[in-house]
Amino acid sequence: MFERFLPKLRVNNVFDIDLQGLYEQGYRGIITDLDNTLVGAKAPLATPELVEWFEKVKKAGFKLVIVSNNNLDRVSVFATPLNIEFVHKARKPAGSSFRKGMEMMGLRPEETIVVGDQMMTDILGGNRQGLFTVLVLPISAADEGFGTRINRRLERIVKHRLGKSGLWLEEEKQK
Ligand SMILES: [Mg+2]
Repeated sequence: MFERFLPKLRVNNVFDIDLQGLYEQGYRGIITDLDNTLVGAKAPLATPELVEWFEKVKKAGFKLVIVSNNNLDRVSVFATPLNIEFVHKARKPAGSSFRKGMEMMGLRPEETIVVGDQMMTDILGGNRQGLFTVLVLPISAADEGFGTRINRRLERIVKHRLGKSGLWLEEEKQK
């Protein structure tokens, strides 16, 4: 039962995602989380490196939307200057927000990648919708809110159980 929390792919950060490889496998769109996936939870704006990455994503042939459980203020301050469409208060892992993200991109589940730092929201929700899920390491664990801290606790339990079945290897950096 814990397999549904398992990402298809683990990377250190978004920059490590093999865009070209995924394009060749037929993927055309990315639903990405915001907090601790793209920037730290308290960082309002994208870094220059991240702005470059968004350009790279576009050039590689991908559409991209941000789907975040955070509020309108937080998400729009980040996304609007970059001209990125978003869903706020997404209530991940609820399926509706993932479906909305796909609808905004005009893509089907088998063409869509989910990127996020939380197994309980991003990965579980993406897996349930049949999407290709990518787990990144959280950018900064220091600034996480109450709900996220609870999720992290649950995550530890899930990882422990997955580890017992040989499905999870802690915790050295990937690759
Ligand atoms: Mg997050």
